[in-house]
Amino acid sequence: MKREEILKLLEDVGAVRQGHFELSSGLHSATYIQCALVLQHPPFAEQLGRALADEFRDLKPACVVSPALGGVIIGHEAGRALGVRAIFVERDRSGQMALRRGFELNPGERVLVVEDVWTTGGSTRETIGVVEQSGGLAVAAGAIIDRSNGKVDLNVPARALLDLSVPSYEAGDCPQCRAGTIAQRPGSRHLRATP
Ligand code: ZN
Repeated sequence: MKREEILKLLEDVGAVRQGHFELSSGLHSATYIQCALVLQHPPFAEQLGRALADEFRDLKPACVVSPALGGVIIGHEAGRALGVRAIFVERDRSGQMALRRGFELNPGERVLVVEDVWTTGGSTRETIGVVEQSGGLAVAAGAIIDRSNGKVDLNVPARALLDLSVPSYEAGDCPQCRAGTIAQRPGSRHLRATP
């Protein structure tokens, strides 16, 4: 899929939101990309998953691992397109990302880490850490959107389908906070795992 096609798709479904947001990374921004609004349409999810799979097929991943919740659907679709399993990490009761539900990696298993949006790439970095602690080999990372302004640094080959440079700020430097409005938290980072 071309960059323009992806951007048009996001805009058509209303996934590009304007307001005052606290992103999962903790940064504040006037723009939030709600990928769930694209991924709620299975044909679009399938199309994006196939596009990501095509970027990384040469690396022969044997499993896709995604951070919950945002990465689960796109990871599943990438796994489908690659013909491999798709599992996810989620926060445990201490707030650490972990493989739960009996998910396991085989020693040296080649893993593609997939998520929806990179702002700082923090969730993907944590996921790569879990993959490595679990004996897997993270061969690459992919996302639908990179909004890090090229700053994401993951120590593995990393590519997003769409680079979308939109400003984000530390809370202390946020112009909208200074103007006195309260940031909304649309992400899932603040949800905690139930026992
Ligand atoms: Zn703010």
